[in-house]
Amino acid sequence: MNSDRYDYLDGNAAAGELSKIFAMDVTAAEGQCGHCGATKRFAEAHVYMQGPGVVARCAICEHVLVRFVDVGRRLFLDARGLTCLSLDISQLREASR
Ligand SMILES: [Zn+2]
Repeated sequence: MNSDRYDYLDGNAAAGELSKIFAMDVTAAEGQCGHCGATKRFAEAHVYMQGPGVVARCAICEHVLVRFVDVGRRLFLDARGLTCLSLDISQLREASR
């Protein structure tokens, strides 16, 4: 698929869909691209929402970072394009004290 043919949004556009999977805001998380090694906030990813699911691509090399699709009773997440996802949980820890 040639991603140049589709308009993309920034990673913030995926916040609603991602909230179905993660209890915290993942758009602020840092992810490392499994292809080029760039580490960026998820909000900077290029998000394509024209298909049946959501595809997030690296802002540097356009490698697929994350795919997820909601098929009603199940939600599928494919994050193998990420080497690492780093989430700041300091606020969660402070809230539980
Ligand atoms: Zn990349």
